[in-house]
Amino acid sequence: MKSISKRALALYLIILFFIAGCVLLFFNLVSNSGDWAMNRANRHLYSNGVLVTAGDIISSDGQVLVTTEDSKRVYSDNKALRMATLHTVGDSAGYIASGVQTSFRDELTGYTLLDGVYNLKRYGRGNDITLTINAEVCETAYRALGQKKGTVAVMNYKTGELVCIVSTPTYDINNKPGDILTDTTGKYDGVYMNRFFSGLYTPGSTFKIITAACAVENIPDIFSRTFTCKGKVQIGEGYVICSSTHGEITFEEALNRSCNCAFAEIAAELGTEKLQATAERLGFNSSLNKVSGKISCAKSRIDLQTASELDLGWAGIGQYTTLINPCHMLTVISSVANGGKAVEPYLIKSISSPEGESLFSASETSAGEYFDSATAAKLGSLLRSNVKNYYGDSYFPSMEFCGKTGTAEISDNEDAKPNALFVGYSQLDSMPFAVIVVVEDTTVSITSAVPIASKVMKAVKAEYAS
Ligand SMILES: [Zn+2]
Repeated sequence: MKSISKRALALYLIILFFIAGCVLLFFNLVSNSGDWAMNRANRHLYSNGVLVTAGDIISSDGQVLVTTEDSKRVYSDNKALRMATLHTVGDSAGYIASGVQTSFRDELTGYTLLDGVYNLKRYGRGNDITLTINAEVCETAYRALGQKKGTVAVMNYKTGELVCIVSTPTYDINNKPGDILTDTTGKYDGVYMNRFFSGLYTPGSTFKIITAACAVENIPDIFSRTFTCKGKVQIGEGYVICSSTHGEITFEEALNRSCNCAFAEIAAELGTEKLQATAERLGFNSSLNKVSGKISCAKSRIDLQTASELDLGWAGIGQYTTLINPCHMLTVISSVANGGKAVEPYLIKSISSPEGESLFSASETSAGEYFDSATAAKLGSLLRSNVKNYYGDSYFPSMEFCGKTGTAEISDNEDAKPNALFVGYSQLDSMPFAVIVVVEDTTVSITSAVPIASKVMKAVKAEYAS
């Protein structure tokens, strides 16, 4: 009996190990099979590590951005469009990690867990992806940025469709420069990074939108207050310097003229906890959901825990340790435009099989309520006043445009040039689009970022609202 029970025990153990092995194998298969099949050594999909049999990537206005011909990836024959869409389309060798060719390679090659690369063998090609970006608008944004480093993006604030994403520096994928790795002049700094998704920038005065939101929510008489700007103001142990001497001004005029004295005083009055809480409710310090489920955005950061009163003053005007990610900031400004409701940005409009069958079609997804509708309306009227009374409607003719500039000092070195930013949107129902522009190492935003936003929004209007 003793030996029988020993044998039974041994048998049970064998069965147990067998089941455990099966579970492990299944788990490995589910979690890794995509990587195994998609490995660059797989000759069904890759030649010398380059993706060759994937489907097309098409812009929302029908431009084929990349296709496959004779087992080669062939890009648009329009050089400016290739340059403008490099970071969105990505390369087939995977240098640009957030590019669609890398992030959506399963979809492009038609790989599925059940069938492996069976579809690819059957049809000889993968699925086609239609993007939300508009080729014309992207090309305009690329030309407007010129030789400057930075990013421009436009989003439909009601649906979350990203109709423009451009990041510079860029290069022509058909003639990749040989000196990218060896260059020491800095002209290719971050060339493989899509600054819209992965960049982090000092917000400068664009952060005054968030300070203003916190003030609207917490200081009941803020709209009837007046502030006196003498060119600098003592906050705690030191001074916050203004760009000008604005004299006696209202809250609205303080935002119009981007008065540092008024906004540093407002931040000091609000205190660290309220300003931190407002920023965090708007998504600072937390990750946005991945764009179209696969592309990560860098996290916007704010930390006022150890800020002195003077630090808080600087934080209120966007010049402390706070950093914003352009995709997140575009989501915030879009929520103001959309009555306080935030939507998730997305880039993939649809996916169809080689036989033309629809496999996926995107729709809008709520990202929650950033503001109540009354606060959003008040912020909207302040941002409208900025454009109407200060920057000038001539930049955005017949668009009922709202916006805020920012010129961010990023170094104490007096010779260092600032980054220029602009965020804004049209209030027209026919044109529900918000824009963000970041231009690195440039002059003040009104002369650099605003004219770029102007060109891009005129192109948006021509494509969508005329
Ligand atoms: Zn001032």
